[in-house]
Amino acid sequence: MTDYSTSLRTDRCGDLRVGDVGRQVTLCGWVDRRREHGEHLAFVDLRDRSGVVQLVIDGAHDLRSEYVLQVTGTVRERPADTANDGLATGAVEVDTTDVTVLSTAEPPPFPLDDRIDVDEVVRLRHRYVDLRRPRMQRNLEVRARVNSAIRQAMEEQGFVEVETPMLIASTPEGARDFVVPSRKEPGSFYALPQSPQIFKQLCMVGGVDRYYQIARCLRDEDLRADRQFEFMQLDAEASFVSQDDVLAFISHAVSSATEAVTGERPGEIPRMSWDEAMERFGSDKPDIRFGMELVELTEVFADTGFRAFQAPCVKGIRVPGGADLSRNRLDDLTEQCKQWGAKGLVWMKVEDDGINSPVAKFLSDEEMGALRSTLEAEIGDLLLIVADERHTVRHVLGLVRLELGRPPVTEGGLHFLWVVDFPLFEGLDDTGNPIPAHHPFTMPHEEDLDALERGDLLDVRSRAYDLVLNGWELGSGSVRIHRREIQEQIFAVLGIGAEEAQTKFGFLLDAFRYGAPPHAGFAFGMDRLTAILAGEENIREVIAYPKTQSGADPLTNAPARIDEHHLTELGLRILPPTD
Ligand code: ASP
Repeated sequence: MTDYSTSLRTDRCGDLRVGDVGRQVTLCGWVDRRREHGEHLAFVDLRDRSGVVQLVIDGAHDLRSEYVLQVTGTVRERPADTANDGLATGAVEVDTTDVTVLSTAEPPPFPLDDRIDVDEVVRLRHRYVDLRRPRMQRNLEVRARVNSAIRQAMEEQGFVEVETPMLIASTPEGARDFVVPSRKEPGSFYALPQSPQIFKQLCMVGGVDRYYQIARCLRDEDLRADRQFEFMQLDAEASFVSQDDVLAFISHAVSSATEAVTGERPGEIPRMSWDEAMERFGSDKPDIRFGMELVELTEVFADTGFRAFQAPCVKGIRVPGGADLSRNRLDDLTEQCKQWGAKGLVWMKVEDDGINSPVAKFLSDEEMGALRSTLEAEIGDLLLIVADERHTVRHVLGLVRLELGRPPVTEGGLHFLWVVDFPLFEGLDDTGNPIPAHHPFTMPHEEDLDALERGDLLDVRSRAYDLVLNGWELGSGSVRIHRREIQEQIFAVLGIGAEEAQTKFGFLLDAFRYGAPPHAGFAFGMDRLTAILAGEENIREVIAYPKTQSGADPLTNAPARIDEHHLTELGLRILPPTD
């Protein structure tokens, strides 16, 4: 047990129990709540990080919400009829004799009650008050526990913590960089790291063997519930390892973090190939907590006379009990599917007297029968079908599945999943150049090197893998290319010329001249893992000082203008806004 006594207090408020009855204690904390009993008796709940305890104060004192007090008194048992079972200290109270006001306080800008919803901007503007709430205190503790468990797990496995710089040249993660102007070299800029990717690979060339870091990464992307400009990653890299080794290292780390928070260690994390994930769930981060999987129907409609189903791929999902969805909702969903890229969405309600669907009359009895049995349809179900190119069908039905079936991320337990065998390229851009699915240092699958040679780029799988938790992508990693010639070949395929490659990543290519070990690594988002473990749907709840959805910090007013003098020093001039 940690000793929390200091020169100013003997105990923490929330730690007092019946065993302390009779002790004289000195406590410090904030006035949480105050109830008057007549003119000269007050009940005050005093709060610190550990919780609250009831003080009974005799005599007149001007004590208001959030005043900071130091009090001395004797712990006594509460009369049975006033004990509070809902409170850890509910069996006792402190008969207070001395009260010192250490600090007065203006009325708080919002009630510090976890049950009351407060506007987020107001919370963030006064984050120092918001952090006093038990929910935030608990979240910060969960976060610290996750960090500590991860550090310990990595160290147990022989990883060495190495810090990498924040002011660097651009990183290749594919997002927009945050840049910092150089004063010494006006017109030149540092980039803030999107990840320590290149440095950790250089550590491998440097013989570090097993590197890790709880690293701050910055990406200038639109913010969402699971995304902030700056976020923390467990970043790791190891030499002389295979994909299996990395998966084992990281599984150990996330399992240890989970155990540290929940008390239970998850079982072995299952693996699924990217192709299977796309076929069954229409997503490379499948949420395996619920069914409604995508079912192949292409064969069922191979000879169909129904034009809309004469497509390279037909798939459907069964929404159990979905037949009561309203016509309006189905029309909205169809419209949504068109926006997601499909030509349309076919719906069928399985009713007592048969299938109710606008397209029923276009399908034969055999087709109807095969459809029902393939989808294992039951009365009351809704069947949703999309026909199109395979990648469109998977993408759109994957989104429909989430839209109709996905539980909140914090419900239904913790379902980790490794997704492996990603394609090396996720498609071609407008100019015909392939788009790398991960960063350009990812090793192609040995078996697919021929396809790479032949130029069948979309058939090339990579040694890349992702970790998914309840449908959130926690992180990704890969076996890296450690040979200069393969790296140059990949740059060439990506349309990165020799000169551009040398300018951007010359230091990595150069390093590979001097003996690079085979290596592989991974990084996952600590904020996302912590949020789910803390039962929060938004990562902002587990970050002490987050930005709002629009990227602002209402507490410090960042981002803010800087003065002319500073701009001049940096060689910058602000252009008028263009619209
Ligand atoms: N650097 C990658 C990322 O931040 C992870 C990795 O490949 O290790 O997503």
